[in-house]
Amino acid sequence: TDSEKTVVSGNSNSGSASTDSEKTMAHRINSQDSQVGFQRAAQSVLSSREWDIPLNEVNLEGKLGEGQFGVVYRGNWHGAVAVKMLNMESASHRRRSEIMATFKQEVAIFRKTRHENLVLFMGACVKPPNLAIVTSLCKGITLYRHLHLRGDKFNLSKIASIALQVCLGMGYLHARGILHKDLKTKNIFYENGKIVITDFGLFSVVKLCQDGRKGNYLTIPHGWLCYLAPELLKDLRPGVEHPDLSFSTRSDVYAFGTVFFELLTGTWPFRRQPPESVIYQVSKGIKPSLANFQSTVDFKEILMSCWAFQAHDRPDFARLQMHLLRLPKRKLTRCPSQPSNLARSTES
Ligand code: ADP
Ligand code: MG
Repeated sequence: TDSEKTVVSGNSNSGSASTDSEKTMAHRINSQDSQVGFQRAAQSVLSSREWDIPLNEVNLEGKLGEGQFGVVYRGNWHGAVAVKMLNMESASHRRRSEIMATFKQEVAIFRKTRHENLVLFMGACVKPPNLAIVTSLCKGITLYRHLHLRGDKFNLSKIASIALQVCLGMGYLHARGILHKDLKTKNIFYENGKIVITDFGLFSVVKLCQDGRKGNYLTIPHGWLCYLAPELLKDLRPGVEHPDLSFSTRSDVYAFGTVFFELLTGTWPFRRQPPESVIYQVSKGIKPSLANFQSTVDFKEILMSCWAFQAHDRPDFARLQMHLLRLPKRKLTRCPSQPSNLARSTES
């Protein structure tokens, strides 16, 4: 049911011991650069080196799956890790340098994150043609798997706890100036009540890699549309080959709204409707009806505020945290709108 997938060569050697980052930096540091600039650049080479992981040091133990980024392997590198291999195959030569630069930028962003609700970045392999990101291996399974594959239901107090943890992780990212751009239940892991968010900030490099694919520019990955805020949908016009999606903190909040809807209903908004119809409705500000599911007024209000048509009318994650913390505990425990069968889910 997933979108069409990319294929990676599976070559896990680290390649020749080329000093690519040095070459790039040497190229950038031209004679006009001041001494200070040079020192900064030298430091940045050093610090990016710190995070270099030669892929031949990582024991790849099998494929975890495949997503927009490429193939994800389970591996061992001083403990259990996930290795995301980037597929650059379909990119033209000219585009590859752009991809490399974006990749390095994204790695620099990743490095800055330390929060208990965010996946732990361990390092990256930045030696072309191998581009990979190594993170800790998430335990448990994704919310997507819980809700849509296993049909697990969460009671309201669990939903409040999950939503709060997502808001804490996202609030942290935004406070550090990082947009997620791809918040969805597939990128949120749940284990024993704990939430871990993955794949923040990787969207640009993925997009660059995919843009090179012939005839692919109008393909909308399955399950992606319902996370896109109205202002982003406007950029998705047919014929626009490389839409510059205007992501913002508030488009991340919109995506959170969809995650919240999935948690409350166990399904997607606009389910089984063709993409054109979803785009039309969202662009006009038409929202899915909330009449058919039981929940408290507070939850529905939070959801609707995240889905506000105008980006500036949506709350930020700090405000959402406040709302979620203030939910009356009595109502949460007394109103189990859905029976919780998650006792069994903690086995994973
Ligand atoms: P998507 O997020 O669209 O599912 P990804 O490329 O991110 O695609 O992931 C591919 C597969 O690898 C998915 O099954 C995902 O759950 C799994 N995966 C990704 N990152 C991790 C991780 N850090 N720990 C465990 N599994 C992961
Ligand atoms: Mg993912």
